[in-house]
Amino acid sequence: MKVGVARESAPGERRVALVPETLARLQKAGLDVLVEQGAGVGSHHPDAAYETAGATVLSTAEMYAQADVILRVQKPGPADVERLRSGQVVMGLLQPLIDPGLQATLAAKGVTSISLDAIPRTLSRAQTMDALSSQANVGGYRAVLLAATAYGRYFPLLTTAAGTAKPANVLILGIGVAGLQAIATARRLGAIVKAYDVRKETREQAQSLGASFLVLKSVADASGEGGYARELTPDERHAQQEELNGYIGDMDVVITTAQVPGRRPPVLVTAAAVALMRPGSIIVDMAASEHGGNCELSRVGETIETPNDVTIIAPENLPASMAGGASLFFARNMSALLLNFVRDGQMTIDFADEITAGTVIAHDGRVVQPATKALLEAAGAAPSGARA
Ligand code: NAD
Repeated sequence: MKVGVARESAPGERRVALVPETLARLQKAGLDVLVEQGAGVGSHHPDAAYETAGATVLSTAEMYAQADVILRVQKPGPADVERLRSGQVVMGLLQPLIDPGLQATLAAKGVTSISLDAIPRTLSRAQTMDALSSQANVGGYRAVLLAATAYGRYFPLLTTAAGTAKPANVLILGIGVAGLQAIATARRLGAIVKAYDVRKETREQAQSLGASFLVLKSVADASGEGGYARELTPDERHAQQEELNGYIGDMDVVITTAQVPGRRPPVLVTAAAVALMRPGSIIVDMAASEHGGNCELSRVGETIETPNDVTIIAPENLPASMAGGASLFFARNMSALLLNFVRDGQMTIDFADEITAGTVIAHDGRVVQPATKALLEAAGAAPSGARA
């Protein structure tokens, strides 16, 4: 079976789905690896490194013509979709719940799609395949480095001949995978870290990494299903914002990572809270996307300075800003998921397997994953073009 590694087409994407050092494991399982020319350049893996690892580097047209399975990081853009053919499999972070129309298109073409963001994350066997976690980890780390670079003072307490520098006060909002890594990174840099989440169990996790946990009276616990948070009611949201405003003004740096599956990210830092912050303070909003962010003033992909001299950074794709490290983790997740499907050197789609049932979105000409199917039915959607 031939496995192709695609060159990413999304703007600014520098990661790659497989890196040379992960090929041996796949080759041992009887797979041949084909690489689209230049696929690894953004993450500093030249074509020659893949060749040395035993892969065949091909032109775009040749790779798409020969591969049985195509591996990618982000969903295919319109030109990539055009090149896919019936019987082929495409695997990546395909975001079927954000772009179900793409899945309808793939199904109509007879392409099987497998999405890493649909992995059942609480299944311990699936942990090695959890690309959402590995990439969120990179994001949390990079968010702190961005904040530390933008901040015009030291993070650690520093005693020098010129006197003492006070440590930075950092607040992390949202203590999932990214938030925990952000706490750990800010602590390693010597900052005083406070953290907050609506899920009660995060208190101990934050404290074990050296952060103090902020207890708000307004929202005691808003744990939802599967370890995620639920959406707050409008009253809870308002009370939470009011109470957070009392803390945010004292912070030098606020890093936000809060998400609720399938919903707009909650606004935790209001314009009124930003107005209370001191000149030179920094906000990094990791939750920002075209659907909004955790800070009311964030503009995704931009860094803005407010009239009271607060910098708000809303990065679009933090993992891509550390493409080498992010791709290595992604490639391990991808290899583990791919090998879950391989029996005797061939792809085997067996829906009795929990991971298969969760991650296979389109197969045999139909969208089969219930959540994506339900979205398409609700929208009465006919197959649409791929949105890049
Ligand atoms: P996420 O990206 O969905 O959200 C980030 C954090 O934001 C979450 O901790 C959430 O509780 C928090 N949040 C949401 N609304 C909020 C609000 N209004 N105020 C404050 N915080 C708010 O989360 P994630 O990083 O994908 O992790 C989600 C869960 O999945 C966690 O429980 C994590 O431990 C769990 N997880 C489990 C496994 C596993 O079991 N193998 C692997 C990865 C993640």
